Amino acid sequence: MASEPANSTWRNVPATQAVMAALGAEAGLARFVGGCVRNTLLQLPVTDIDIATVHPPEETTKRLLAAGLKAKPTGIAHGTITAIADRQPYEITTLRRDMVTDGRRAVVAFTDDWAEDAARRDFTMNAIFMDIDGMILDPMGGMEDALAGRVRFVGQATQRIREDALRILRFFRFQAQYGKGRLDADALAACRLDAASLNGLSGERIRNELLKLLGAPATGLVVRAMAEVGILYALFPNPLRVEALDRLIAREGNQPDLFRRLAVLLDHPPEAVTQRLRLSREDGARLSAMAIDRLDLDADEAGVKVQLHRYGVKRFVDLAWMTAALEDSEPALLGRALALSRNWKVPTFPLRGADLIKLGLVPDQRIGRILATIETRWIDGGFQADQEVCLAWACDSLTQELEQDMANIAETAARALTNARANNQPVQSFPDGSAPGSVEAAYAIQDAAVALSGEEVSAWKVGPAASNFPETCAPILASRVLSSPVALSNALRLKAVECEVAFRLARDLPPAGGPYTSAQARDAVATAMVAIEVVETRYASWPVEDRIWALADNQSNHALVVGAETPLPDATTIDALTATLALGEAVKPADKGFPGGDPFALIAWLATHVGTRSPALATRGLKAGDIITTGSWNGVDFATDGMTVRADYPGLGSAEVTYG
Ligand code: ATP
Ligand code: MG
Repeated sequence: MASEPANSTWRNVPATQAVMAALGAEAGLARFVGGCVRNTLLQLPVTDIDIATVHPPEETTKRLLAAGLKAKPTGIAHGTITAIADRQPYEITTLRRDMVTDGRRAVVAFTDDWAEDAARRDFTMNAIFMDIDGMILDPMGGMEDALAGRVRFVGQATQRIREDALRILRFFRFQAQYGKGRLDADALAACRLDAASLNGLSGERIRNELLKLLGAPATGLVVRAMAEVGILYALFPNPLRVEALDRLIAREGNQPDLFRRLAVLLDHPPEAVTQRLRLSREDGARLSAMAIDRLDLDADEAGVKVQLHRYGVKRFVDLAWMTAALEDSEPALLGRALALSRNWKVPTFPLRGADLIKLGLVPDQRIGRILATIETRWIDGGFQADQEVCLAWACDSLTQELEQDMANIAETAARALTNARANNQPVQSFPDGSAPGSVEAAYAIQDAAVALSGEEVSAWKVGPAASNFPETCAPILASRVLSSPVALSNALRLKAVECEVAFRLARDLPPAGGPYTSAQARDAVATAMVAIEVVETRYASWPVEDRIWALADNQSNHALVVGAETPLPDATTIDALTATLALGEAVKPADKGFPGGDPFALIAWLATHVGTRSPALATRGLKAGDIITTGSWNGVDFATDGMTVRADYPGLGSAEVTYG
């Protein structure tokens, strides 16, 4: 028995008084026990109130209800009823002794003997009773131990631990909370001896004790002692990160965070910890998030901001503490990171999928890709770009993607045409939707075919605009410019020929120098020559009905056969030119003249047009030495197997092709 201590206001609140009155505390039928008594004696805050009573649980329940209080059977097997008064829980347990214990749970018998009840409790400082007037009943001499900070088992440590392995963790937990001086040697030895028995305990029980332990004032010291004797080894076999925990605690000051401490201490897969301790989904996710990445606290401010944005404030703060503790970073770096997390408002990326859909984008995987690209750019730019700028970037990258798509499609079509040419097999249809639908698409296919060939372009054919169709042109590869006379294979399917006049440039006509006039083009020309354009189609039928398809197929060019060159005749001579085409023995006039009238106007158009082609062609432009053929004088005629075809332009020269 002892006199009433000072710190006991909790005892006088009406709710407590009501519960105790219901239980007949005045008559000595109920007493406070456990933490509330211990902490009152130690002048520490009281958080929960445990009550011991002589009444069996049914009687306790009856009395509570009769007093208009709530009663919940929270641990009926051990005789525990929880009363609720004024929203405050009171854990009321019938005096008892433990009959059978298996290390995890006990079979109990109720008693009215206070000393017997004290004997089944874990530590002497937890086995002190206090009545409603504050009088102490202390059968185990717990008060002295409590005041001395001695965590001492009631009875024999080894036996008490065998009854309930959780007492191992409770020993360290109370030591961390109330212990002063060295740990009780007997208790420590007993804990070490049976440390493996922690394995048999439920996750909830371990979790509760472990978290309380991690929040206690002497956590660091006690965890070190636990690590030394391998207490947690059975649960988490990897070495405990005791020093990192010390650092964390030292830096936390008055803002302890139990899960952070747990994450620092346990070098163990977070999923396994979550499962073993039966953590909630939320706590488990947090633990995992802390375990995976480390921050670069050394980064410059912009770099720290990037990390803050990447992880979000909550996770960033956790990771900052983790990193600082595990890597022993400069405290100033941690301080800077935490200050930034408080003071800098993490910006939100100003673009969403809906904004792109508004631009006319079909909702598909492209949206996510573009958003990700723009977000990276936004982050790299220090989060400065606003929505307008981001939208402009999105448009750019969309255009680029579409161009790339078009290039890919063009390449597919060009491959089909190139293969058809190589195998002399017609294209029946374009694969994968690559059929051209516009003049631009047709030119893209021409360009792709040039790229696929790996060859230089050394000549062009060009034709005038006609009935709703613009000027046309096609590049001719160097290997397709042949010197007259030339032998061609009978195997060519069409064997179509056209007589033409071609010109060779003496000077470059770079697209940037244009748009050119006919006079400028003429001025750039050095020589003229008679040419036979050998016409073939890579399609199944002739004529090619779709002009865009024909254009994509290099405007049906197979090769250009050129005769000897003469210096460019004067305008009058050119205007007066006549021609004949000999198909074997048959000679016919080729009298249609230059298609479109002025061949130099077409060359001028071409020089400008080349600037709109693939980058490779556009940067090259028209160059000195290039040959340009300017359209058929005979329409089209067809040779037969073994036939010699000859174009004659009196005064200009001739060109000749023989099939065989
Ligand atoms: P806290 O301030 O953390 O609530 P507490 O001492 O009240 O500390 P509780 O876990 O609430 O601890 O338990 C109440 C009382 O029940 C303890 O003081 C102790 O007397 C007894 N007790 C609890 N758990 C055990 C156990 N595993 N073995 C023996 N006695 C126990
Ligand atoms: Mg308690």
